[in-house]
Amino acid sequence: MDLTDLTIHAMQQQLADGRLTSVDLTKAFLARIHATDDQLNAFITVCDEEALVAARQADEQRATGNVQPLTGIPVALKDIFVTRGVRTTCASKILGDFMSPYDGTAVRKLKEQGAVILGKLNMDEFAMGSSNENSAFGPVRNPWNTGCVPGGSSGGSAASVAARQTAASLGTDTGGSIRQPASHCGVVGLKPTYGRVSRYGVIAYASSLDQVGPLTRDVRDCAILLGAIAGYDPADSTSVDTPVPDYLATLEGGVAGKKIGLPKEYFIDGVDADVKRAVQAVVEKYRELGAEIVEVSLPHTRYAVACYYLVATAEASSNLARYDGVRYGQRVDKGQGLIDMYSQTRAAGFGPEVKRRIMLGTYALSSGYYDAYYLKAQKVRALIRQDFLDAFEQVDCILTPVAPSAAFGLGDKTSDPLQMYLSDIFTLSANLAGICGLSLPCGLSGQGEAGGGLPIGVQLLGKPFGEAELLQIAYAYEQVSGWQGKTPKL
Ligand code: GLN
Repeated sequence: MDLTDLTIHAMQQQLADGRLTSVDLTKAFLARIHATDDQLNAFITVCDEEALVAARQADEQRATGNVQPLTGIPVALKDIFVTRGVRTTCASKILGDFMSPYDGTAVRKLKEQGAVILGKLNMDEFAMGSSNENSAFGPVRNPWNTGCVPGGSSGGSAASVAARQTAASLGTDTGGSIRQPASHCGVVGLKPTYGRVSRYGVIAYASSLDQVGPLTRDVRDCAILLGAIAGYDPADSTSVDTPVPDYLATLEGGVAGKKIGLPKEYFIDGVDADVKRAVQAVVEKYRELGAEIVEVSLPHTRYAVACYYLVATAEASSNLARYDGVRYGQRVDKGQGLIDMYSQTRAAGFGPEVKRRIMLGTYALSSGYYDAYYLKAQKVRALIRQDFLDAFEQVDCILTPVAPSAAFGLGDKTSDPLQMYLSDIFTLSANLAGICGLSLPCGLSGQGEAGGGLPIGVQLLGKPFGEAELLQIAYAYEQVSGWQGKTPKL
């Protein structure tokens, strides 16, 4: 078996037994990145030297008996996490080669626990997109079929884990950006509850929706990484001071007697037959495992896309006002005064989708339209959250597709933003409601337009701060899914 095929928990064991060193592992992953990234474009920055230095330090620490859960484990970061000493681009030209003076909290926690950072991953510019085609560094390709998109916006985070360029990665999810690419690339992706993981040092897109989470090979690795990054942080006023449970302790508890809800509004026309079949098969497995399947209703689902694209763009227009050529990154100044400098910098620095979102959001917030759009969207958002809280009175988790189809072809949706926005129809409600959600591989597509053989994911949505139960339910299915070990032939 190749070293790059190992899960984090397998690495932990082999490192502890002395059968493996972090330097061996890190070299194997770096070699894999260099052998495959011409095809995938998953990395914006590869940290060859820094990673090997960290790996050597991890091995030395282990020799002295100072072992942390992630000592020597190689991981990679979406390029939205600021990192001291390594550039952060957010896949935008406007940041240039921006160097942060500090590490964000999630990154600091990973480093403190001994993780080795392999590099920074490609993404949609400022995390706006569902296909990773909105990157100033070019699109990422799906390792299962390089003619297809990996999903977005954490496309590099998903593709790199699937292609065994890294053991695991961190992404961010504002409306589906961890779960949808995880589904398209056949890996596990978790969006924790709003407030569970600190966003300090994560470049803001839509602050009331953004959340940090792991993308991993399996559910156990997901539990390990979540445990490593979760927790209250005084530097992020939206992080919640509630204890972090031991996610591994309850993982194997099974699903006997658990109630799983199927929202009737989610099993609709427009979902591919392959996806329907795969998700239905998961439901049957859960039944066999002793779970009770219950129909639930989330009646405001049909307003979710409209509501999300108002809230997200409004917050984006406000967050992105800081890129003015004065404080960060690039400046374009033809010497015609301050206002011209702002507009020249922003015209040259932002890509077309980011500009579209800033304009939509600015419009929705403008006086005269604020009540009709932004305020109305906030009210609808409260109803969507209440739908979920009501449903969770009846069930322990909710099961849905992640996306209406498997990965689509590169370029298929770039000319139609609305079609692209509809890719998130099943994921973005969880962000509006602030609950947790996980994407789990459950099958491969048949011979569709893209040629078939592409991963399909199932989504499990859980109660606020119910990650432990969500992981437990996911783990039970994973054991009987027949998926384990499936990797693209890249
Ligand atoms: N595709 C959605 C958007 O473009 C979600 C993005 C995300 O979760 N960052 O807004």
